Amino acid sequence: MAKLYFHYSTMNAGKSTLLLQAAHNYQEMGMETYLLTADFDDRSGTGQIGSRIGLAKDADIYGKADDLFEMISARLGKGPIACVMVDEAQWLSKAQVWQLARAVDDLKVPVMSYGLRVDFRGELFPGSATLLALADELREVRTICHCGKKATMVIRKGADGKALVDGDQVQVGGNETYVSLCRKHFREAIGDR
Ligand SMILES: [Zn+2]
Repeated sequence: MAKLYFHYSTMNAGKSTLLLQAAHNYQEMGMETYLLTADFDDRSGTGQIGSRIGLAKDADIYGKADDLFEMISARLGKGPIACVMVDEAQWLSKAQVWQLARAVDDLKVPVMSYGLRVDFRGELFPGSATLLALADELREVRTICHCGKKATMVIRKGADGKALVDGDQVQVGGNETYVSLCRKHFREAIGDR
């Protein structure tokens, strides 16, 4: 049965790499996948999902106003797909997560979404909060803090190398400005509040 999956983690855990590997595995078996990514992530060029280890694949882009149920429905009209894969799923709106859920239930296509759980303030992204609520399967993509414990948090570093405690959630940065940490080291970096 088709399911809605949410693969979540902190920064730099290799989510896009996992997505691209999964898409490649389907392709090797002769099955098509439909890849989607947020249009305000231009790290890999518009309309592409890229990973830090150099893999890349073309993807359709979705904006805030796009109806993902309609996009998936239109894609299915052109031929069968084994699965839909959504990168940067933290940027989905609540409505868009419901649209993905409808695609799973009514179009019977599996949807695998990949995204960050919390922002650099330690707060859930709206897309991730809704996915945590609605997904059939939750899968944690693990990465580690410098101390060796599992990293669940992320800090954003300013130009002075210090952790920022406030600011715009929407900025999407490169590897150098974000550091993934365990909760204890996150607390040490930003201070208890
Ligand atoms: Zn740590």
